[in-house]
Parts: sequence; structure tokens; C-alpha cells
Amino acid sequence: MAQGCSARMTAAAGGLTTPTGSARGVDGVYHRRMRLAGLLIDLDGTLYVGGEPVAGAREAVASLKDSGLAIRYVTNTTREPRRLVCERLLSLGFEVEEREIFTPARAAAGKIGPRSCFALVDGSLLEDLEGVNLTDGRPDYVLVGDLGEGFTYERLNLAFRHLMEGADLMALQKNKFWRTEGGMSLDAGPFVAALEYASGKRASVVGKPEQDFFRLALDDLGLMANQVGMVGDDAEADVGGARKAGLLGIQVRTGKWQADASEADLVLDSIADLPGVVKSWGGEG
Ligand SMILES: [Mg+2]
Repeated sequence: MAQGCSARMTAAAGGLTTPTGSARGVDGVYHRRMRLAGLLIDLDGTLYVGGEPVAGAREAVASLKDSGLAIRYVTNTTREPRRLVCERLLSLGFEVEEREIFTPARAAAGKIGPRSCFALVDGSLLEDLEGVNLTDGRPDYVLVGDLGEGFTYERLNLAFRHLMEGADLMALQKNKFWRTEGGMSLDAGPFVAALEYASGKRASVVGKPEQDFFRLALDDLGLMANQVGMVGDDAEADVGGARKAGLLGIQVRTGKWQADASEADLVLDSIADLPGVVKSWGGEG
């Protein structure tokens, strides 16, 4: 069994326990894990913390891949295309391919499909909207991301008019503000809220923990929810969202882990422990 794995967990023969000690449906977990064919892996806090790789994470990812699991790296970042996310992971020593990275922009592209979209997103993100019919005139969707100073009255008013003419409102994220070098700054959320307020429409948000995000990531993997585990440090965005979508929720005690916040199916000290656990599941088959 994996080194560093929770004793409570490893001691339970076929019975994983939650951090609060209550046994979760042992049979349910058993059957789900027997079919584990893929993983969604969070980035910040799970693979790296503060710009440094988590100890053993690189080896763990390589081992999980070698064992035949299909992997998607899932992040809520909406400020850079997956090409740059990929470059950062490569610079940290992770062997990843760009196609394995799944972002809200990719989720939006999957959801919009061949339909048309008026995009209020940063120009650098457009490469991730490949396949989407981008238009300024009579779109099916208005997509709002991080446009910063590009959120002009003119652009917002055009978006509002599209919504009033029938377009659906979609948001890459709905954060209220963020900290920039110059101080606290408006994020995309207030602009999404303004468009919602004026049009009377509710935006669908496409990042974690939204169900669509996990569904679209599964589509990208070509797998069913009960074949896939989500590994992350965020109790709500990663584990909660994934479990609601029917995936196995695996929480790591790195990054933003808080001891009393988890309802995960499985809790590990770090992702470095996951290959050993997955191997032990295979051994029970
Ligand atoms: Mg995280």
C-alpha cells in the first residue's frame, strides 16, 4: 500500500472512509474504482504549490499514465490559453500534452459547438475557442470572460442587445474581483451581473464546480462518470463538483486543504500517494 497514505484509509479492507471517519458505501466505492479508467487532475495546489511541484507529483503523474489511465488536467484559469498552461507544466517537469489540458474556455467551446458566439474574452484566449463560430452579429451565445479594460460601454451594450434578441449568456467565471499590481480590480463577475440585471437572463458558468464542466471534460476523455476520479485540493470546486457529477472525489492534503471541509470518497496526503492506491485497487480485481 502507498507510503504516506492515511492509516484510517489503508487499514480499511475495501472500505474507504471519509476524513470525518464515517464509512462511505463500501460496495459503491468498490464497484466504481474497479472501473477507474481516467482521472481529472487539478493543477494549483495539487500538482504544484507556490510555483514549486508537490514532492513526488511528477513521478506520480508519470506512473498513473503508465498504468493506462487517461488524464485531463483541469483548471479554472481564464486568463491564459491552455498552450501557456501546458508550457508552465512542462517547465515544472510534468510530461503533459496541450490536448490533455481542460479549461473553462475549452468547456465553453464544447458547449457552444458549431453555434455562433459573441465573445467578450481576452484575445489570447481565442485560440482555445477553436471550432466556435465567432461573430459580432446575431450570435447564439454571448460569452463573457476576462476582458479587463476591454469592457467598454460599447462592447457591453452590444452584448446586451444580443441578449435581448435571443442570445444565451455564458460566463467563463463569475469572480467579483482580483488583486492586480495596482490594487483590487473588478473581475468578470460584475460585468456578467450587469448583463444579467439588464437582460433578465441568468448566465451559465462553465468552470469547476459546474456540472457542465465535468460533463464536458468526460466527453473530452470519452469516458463515463463512474470510470473517472477527480483529484484536487478544493473541497467544493474539485471534490464536491465532481462527486455531484458522479465521479469519484479524491482530495489531497496539499494546497488549500482544510481538515474539516472534505466529503471526499478518498483523502490522500498528496497526489504522490495515488499510484499506490490505484495499484492496490487493481490488485483486488
Ligand atoms: Mg487547486
